[in-house]
Amino acid sequence: MATTTVLVVGGGPGGSQAASRAASLGAHVTLVEREVVGGAAHLWDCIPSKAMIATAGALSFSRRMGGLGFTAGASPSQVDYEALRQRIVDVTARLRRSVEELLASQGVRVIAGEASFTGPHSAIVTGRVAEGGAPEELSFDAAVVCTGSRPRVPEWAVPDGERVLTTRHAYPPPEPPEHLVVVGSGVTGVEFVHMFSSLGSKVSLIVSRQHVLPHKDAEVAAALEEELLRRGVALYKGARAESIERAGAGVTVHCDDGRAVSASHVLLAVGSVPNSDRLGLERAGVEVDKWGYLPINHHCQTNVAHIYAAGDVSGKLPLSSVASMQGRKVAEHIMGLHTREHRHIDYDKAASAVFTEPEIADVGLAEAEAFASGRKIRVTKVPFAATAKALINDDPRGFVKIISDPFTGVVLGGCVVGNQASELISVIALAVTAGLRVTDLLESCLVHPSLAEAIADAAE
Ligand SMILES: Cc1cc2nc3c(=O)[nH]c(=O)nc-3n(C[C@H](O)[C@H](O)[C@H](O)COP(=O)(O)OP(=O)(O)OC[C@H]3O[C@@H](n4cnc5c(N)ncnc54)[C@H](O)[C@@H]3O)c2cc1C
Repeated sequence: MATTTVLVVGGGPGGSQAASRAASLGAHVTLVEREVVGGAAHLWDCIPSKAMIATAGALSFSRRMGGLGFTAGASPSQVDYEALRQRIVDVTARLRRSVEELLASQGVRVIAGEASFTGPHSAIVTGRVAEGGAPEELSFDAAVVCTGSRPRVPEWAVPDGERVLTTRHAYPPPEPPEHLVVVGSGVTGVEFVHMFSSLGSKVSLIVSRQHVLPHKDAEVAAALEEELLRRGVALYKGARAESIERAGAGVTVHCDDGRAVSASHVLLAVGSVPNSDRLGLERAGVEVDKWGYLPINHHCQTNVAHIYAAGDVSGKLPLSSVASMQGRKVAEHIMGLHTREHRHIDYDKAASAVFTEPEIADVGLAEAEAFASGRKIRVTKVPFAATAKALINDDPRGFVKIISDPFTGVVLGGCVVGNQASELISVIALAVTAGLRVTDLLESCLVHPSLAEAIADAAE
């Protein structure tokens, strides 16, 4: 039987997983990447933002060390921005190398360049830097479009990388912002507020709705707002930014309700747009929706059955973890594995986290969603203040909430607010995915003292 040839366009989490899994299943795989293997996730998004948050979190922790018996903490002036920049470069380079080595060990051919389709079974790679620059034509049995997304820039803003920043200018920015205005209070916006307020900048946040994190549980958003206000972050609620004025060494952000905020820098965190332009999709017959995303079915197939889309460009949940899972599932579908072991992705069961202080993580059914649909649920909540480990850590902020079916006890969802939330949610995520009952959580004999005990208590 002839070997299946697979073209993967884009080497982020979606593309590298698709390539790796397809190669491990016996396909002949070529991956084309125009920037770096690891993708925007490694270069601009997940990894650099979390590396910066690690520094910001340590600094924030140092200010609370008095509660652990220390007499002095670090001060913002102790952050070495150049060392921080180098640390981020080192972390991302190390991760990139490990992905490159994995793909090489599996026989994936990686081409540095930009791919675009020339037909339903062919593509051309241009701008190659690795192999002398000549365009190369490729043919394939199946292709996977994993080209990701980029920050959305509203028509009223012109990022300059100096004072008017997108998230791609912020690891860290050329100089520490004295006063940063963040426009957008979704996950990305609040993470940057956490980062820079911890690093010592004055921060203002433009919140277009009535609370931050509009898509999260209101109680969770309230816990975060409480902490932001405690830090002195100014919240401009119910205001939409509509223009930015640059004057000398500062910026002024004007809002539609007449308010204006003057600061040293402004950071735009107003969503993303898919990288589906310049791909020649029309030559392959692949349709995009009005926003530029590639609509897919439950196998991640586009309207052209042998061309798949995975990751942000597919318009599903814009998470690295989801992109990786889609990439993996696509490879299995191409290689025919779905008939035996393959399960569809249930996007409603994907865990996600907001890396702020307190950390926030959730999975599965949310309380508001259940009420809106009239579904009966049982909600149990335990504050960390009742957990020994939280008191030992001198950080009793936050809570664990578990949502279950009142008749069967099956865990339907949950959220964790507090220290280590992004780690702790894994337990609830496993319960949701595996259809476990609250009694299964309750009967696990956990480590004592541990923060996870709050999950067992909430399952009571
Ligand atoms: C600030 C920020 C922080 C985030 N933090 C998290 C987090 O903590 N956890 C999480 O799960 N998610 C996070 N995300 C979301 C996450 O980064 C994305 O969901 C993830 O990167 C999507 O992966 P992907 O494979 O679709 O694309 P990407 O990672 O965007 O990779 C796409 C790749 O395709 C390449 N490409 C594009 N067009 C072409 C072409 N024509 N030819 C060749 N190559 C091409 C690009 O160069 C890029 O390398 C964050 C996002 C942002 C903005």
